[in-house]
Amino acid sequence: MSHEPLMLEGKPVVAEIYANLSSRIEALTAQGITPCLATILVGDDPASATYVRMKGNACKKLGMESRRIHLPADTTTKQLIDTIAKLNQDTAVHGILLQHPVPAQIDERAAFDAIDSAKDVDGVTSLGFGRMSYNVPAYASCTPEAILSVLDHYQIDIEGKHAVVIGRSAILGKPVSFLLLNRNATVTICHSKTKDLAEHVGHADIVVAAVGRPKFVQGSWLKPGAVVLDAGYNEGNIGDADFESCLDKVKAITPVPGGIGPVTIAKLLQHTVEAAEASV
Ligand code: NAP
Repeated sequence: MSHEPLMLEGKPVVAEIYANLSSRIEALTAQGITPCLATILVGDDPASATYVRMKGNACKKLGMESRRIHLPADTTTKQLIDTIAKLNQDTAVHGILLQHPVPAQIDERAAFDAIDSAKDVDGVTSLGFGRMSYNVPAYASCTPEAILSVLDHYQIDIEGKHAVVIGRSAILGKPVSFLLLNRNATVTICHSKTKDLAEHVGHADIVVAAVGRPKFVQGSWLKPGAVVLDAGYNEGNIGDADFESCLDKVKAITPVPGGIGPVTIAKLLQHTVEAAEASV
């Protein structure tokens, strides 16, 4: 590109979200309600432990409460569902986040679906996902919603654009595809069995990298002027796009760290405040 690409920094997007939340949290607290997010971490994956810690810290910073539940790596599906059931019953808890991925012996779908939909602040239940995909009110999954918020904040058009999403996980690739579709993008979803991935990516106006592989998306694959949203967060703070090679081609790109990650946390807090407001 002949001009400097636009850096889609998360910071101003987060500031906007938090500015809106502060007075709402104060109003709730004045009524004796402190919005509370419960996070459940199963096992000892260091990246997941970091995410959960960051979410708890963000709650504290905004005057919200958080509960951290840490279960051992050999937890069964039943034990996890029993833990979720207790949190569903607890009226002081407004949002429940089960950190993905859970260990392989757990039926993740059954665990997600055990979350009360009123507390499903990360849009992981089948009901929440279904409602989001039908474009009726629901808490959308936070990282996908963060991606849309970044596009909106920087006034990047979605309607009529060709978006290529790389990844189809329940928490990221699939929901972001529906959010983009509901905003009238034409969406191609790619995954590990996709043939000619680079060719698909080469048609994209908007590329969402949600692969879980460091520096996976290459600048040489991109159409000049593409916008890259990198949701990846790999060891060493490395994204799923090869940032350096992408810079030559893109109109705009999210940095990693400092792009989608902080906005995801802000969205989670926003949904928890909304759930607390709905509980009054
Ligand atoms: P995931 O559950 O492991 O899913 C990865 C997806 O990428 C799968 O759909 C997989 O395809 C696809 N894939 C893997 N290798 C591929 C290849 N060679 N070519 C094309 N597609 C390929 O991961 P996730 O939870 O969605 O997370 C994705 C990334 O986002 C990770 O870097 C994660 O750390 C990051 N993340 C960030 C945030 C945040 O707050 N910023 C939140 C969540 C996740 P198959 O379905 O065929 O296996």
